[in-house]
Amino acid sequence: MTDETLASYAAHEESGKGRRHKEPPAAYRGEYQRDRDRIIHSTAFRRLVYKTQVFVNHEGDLYRTRMTHSLEVTQIARTVARALRLNEPLVEAISLAHDLGHTPFGHAGQDALNECMRDYGGFEHNLQSLRVVDELEAKYADFVGLNLTYETREGILKHCSARNARELGELGKRFLDRRQPGLEAQLVNIADSIAYNNHDVDDGFRAGLLQLDQLRGQALFGEHYTEVRQRYPELDDRRLIYEVIRRMIGHVVTDLINHTSDALLALGPESIEDVRSHSKPLVAFSDAVFESHTALKKFLRENLYRHDQVRQMNEQTRAMVEVLFERYMSDTSQMPRWFEKRAALGQPDGQARVVADYIAGMTDRFAIAEHDRLN
Ligand code: MG
Repeated sequence: MTDETLASYAAHEESGKGRRHKEPPAAYRGEYQRDRDRIIHSTAFRRLVYKTQVFVNHEGDLYRTRMTHSLEVTQIARTVARALRLNEPLVEAISLAHDLGHTPFGHAGQDALNECMRDYGGFEHNLQSLRVVDELEAKYADFVGLNLTYETREGILKHCSARNARELGELGKRFLDRRQPGLEAQLVNIADSIAYNNHDVDDGFRAGLLQLDQLRGQALFGEHYTEVRQRYPELDDRRLIYEVIRRMIGHVVTDLINHTSDALLALGPESIEDVRSHSKPLVAFSDAVFESHTALKKFLRENLYRHDQVRQMNEQTRAMVEVLFERYMSDTSQMPRWFEKRAALGQPDGQARVVADYIAGMTDRFAIAEHDRLN
């Protein structure tokens, strides 16, 4: 479908690199809309509801999960996409899929699985997201995976080690040549960090792990805090936090749009290929906002992600992943038939990869139940 509202440097379906298996066009939808719908209908997507972002699922019902995080990323990215006249359905597809490969228990789960897989090629959640859509979703009679377009897959694979990049053919080439993905992919990458920087302030405060006084020391937070306090001197803390977070998101999103449009105007890329050939991403914050955004990220790492309470939970969940890996490796019949059969095909590295696929696909609560069953 030709879309006149798109900028020349956006991803255009008619010049897209297509799907791995050729398919006739859909009747009412464009190709990226179709990708988005396939992602939403996937089993991996539904599991995101029960996967940890920072707080393990059973710690409370109001914290972000991978699902609500993915939806927040999508909304932020769509706003920017419209303002920059980028391809909105593509941005939606990439945003909704970007965390499909995440293990249960957030980064603790990913680190544990990576450690278990050390002798078998390691585990990267980005690459796993691509594996989910390319190989693990089993829904179509004619092909494995979801057969998504090149541009969606390019956006899903935001990082990749050189070793893995070499095995990925054209999709991995940009990591070796130091080229960029399209603007839609660049945008989702930043929208991801805008979303978690802001919702983790909210969740951390709700959990009582971050205090207002600490947050006020952060440039991004402090500036908007003062403004809200002056305007609403009587406001309770809970609503105040929301007023501040809303302004913080608005502030960085506006900066991102302005700074990126200036860069696009100055450099004048005429197509997605021009964008790809740049050595640096074109979707970017101004230096000042980049600095305060990065400072907030660092603050969250030190004060929330490494908070004693979070760390304790991480140690428990880490140990669970290690036990699961060990049990399935020594007895593959403990996995469902489909995984057991696949494991038998590829001894021994292949077997470990199948076990990692099985564990990575688990929700938090399923992993806990499996751990209890096998112990
Ligand atoms: Mg994310």
